Amino acid sequence: ILKVEHLDKYYGDWQALHDINFSINKGEVVTLLGPSGSGKSTLIRTLNGLESYRKGTIYFQGKKVDPNPKEWQALRQKIGMVFQSYDLFPNLTVMDNILLAPTKVQGRDKEEVRKEALALLDRVELRKHADSYPRQLSGGQKQRIAIVRALAMHPELMLFDEVTASLDPEMVRGVLKIIKELSDQDHMTMIIVTHEMNFAAKIADKVLFLEKGKILEETPGKQFFDHPQTDRAAEFLNSMD
Ligand code: ATP
Ligand code: MG
Repeated sequence: ILKVEHLDKYYGDWQALHDINFSINKGEVVTLLGPSGSGKSTLIRTLNGLESYRKGTIYFQGKKVDPNPKEWQALRQKIGMVFQSYDLFPNLTVMDNILLAPTKVQGRDKEEVRKEALALLDRVELRKHADSYPRQLSGGQKQRIAIVRALAMHPELMLFDEVTASLDPEMVRGVLKIIKELSDQDHMTMIIVTHEMNFAAKIADKVLFLEKGKILEETPGKQFFDHPQTDRAAEFLNSMD
């Protein structure tokens, strides 16, 4: 569904990503791991058109992406993203946050989307908060809403960048459970950046290990956590527990 070839990304004169190559098939979960500053967020933002790139090609659903803002704007309807910081609109209720893009951007029928939104809210056990405002919710609840809001667009691919990093430990589990269900039940295609190694080990079909903007290794999930190919990755795993 997504393929990246020879991608180079610069911030000014400084090269942040070096010759990135990988692909993800429909229904797969790819986890991006690596030390702080290795380029995980940069890569995931590039895959959503939030960062430009100097060289290389991205293919989405078999078509070469023409890297202009208009094309990315269209693609972003199919590529959902959830960040570490909750980016809900503070002046809108939970329901209006969810309805906004499907009705305004995709032009879908409001009542139909509302029904779907309620079903999604049921799934994340937040239906009773449909009329709440973001400030009335906990961090974990806000992240579950952010996921629902992305899902309401019917994405083909979901990108998650450390969605539990700023949550209290007891909130983390509920958010990770939803992401795991999206994989197990919905076979959602996902690229996930996380520091939760137990979670990554359970969910990853494939791990990309980044260091200094390069993919040091690309390894099937189970194998990565048992026998990483590089010493650097082994060291990284040791430092995480
Ligand atoms: P973390 O685990 O801490 O989130 P990361 O792997 O997500 O790290 P990135 O945020 O992608 O790392 O950053 C990769 C490198 O690019 C870092 O050296 C960072 O300082 C640099 N960088 C990130 N964003 C910018 C920017 N907007 N302008 C210039 N440099 C940037
Ligand atoms: Mg990051």
